[in-house]
Amino acid sequence: LFVDAPLQEGGAVGLDRDQSNYLGNVLRLGAGDHVLVFNGRDGEWQAAIQGRKRPDSLTVRHRTRLQNHLPDVAYVFAPLKHARLDYMVQKAVEMGASRLEPVITRHTQVSRVNGERMRANVIEAAEQCGILSLAEVRDPVPLAHFLDQRPPSRLLVFCDEAADVADPVRALHDAKDPHAGIDVLIGPEGGFAADERELLLRQPCVTRLALGPRILRADTAGVAALALVQATLGD
Ligand code: SAM
Repeated sequence: LFVDAPLQEGGAVGLDRDQSNYLGNVLRLGAGDHVLVFNGRDGEWQAAIQGRKRPDSLTVRHRTRLQNHLPDVAYVFAPLKHARLDYMVQKAVEMGASRLEPVITRHTQVSRVNGERMRANVIEAAEQCGILSLAEVRDPVPLAHFLDQRPPSRLLVFCDEAADVADPVRALHDAKDPHAGIDVLIGPEGGFAADERELLLRQPCVTRLALGPRILRADTAGVAALALVQATLGD
């Protein structure tokens, strides 16, 4: 369970209505039962539930896991609408992305995203898959702005259905500087415009990644690309 509070032995943590309902009514837990909590900074702790009628607070007992850190893999994507955006965010977190960077391209369907909704999906996915760090959610920026401000040593993995890279794993290995992070870029449903593709190919440290011979939906491509990058280069 994510709690936005400091965690130290003997400390007390208040529960909001949703957390109390989840522990009491969904998990059927009550006073004296234990739950594992994390705050995204201080590792994972066991805590005892307090509250006579319903869970209303926790008493922190002891740490069960040290804080772990996510690999420096940013998921850079043209945002989709609502439920599909929720899906993309949750899968990116499950795949270990440490940062979510929406970029607005020529054919992007939406130009505004609900950051709070994205952050809630990050927390839900982290609780579900047991990671202790929360992926950072950035505000959407135009593609050119994203490219201008990224460090040139970072590997840009640009997923392109027009790419004919025979061996994507070899391409990833050959392109990666072991000390720099990775940006995995997925285009919008309508694909990248021709001038965007040229701009991407001019980037200092870029590799085009083909994800097989079929055209994937953007949210499918995101999962496939992150899985391949993590399997090939993840630490
Ligand atoms: N350009 C096509 C179009 O206009 O229908 C397809 C765009 S595809 C739905 C959305 C994004 O997913 C692409 O911009 C690309 O980043 C990624 N993608 C889809 N299929 C891919 C593949 N086979 N290899 C690499 N990337 C792919």
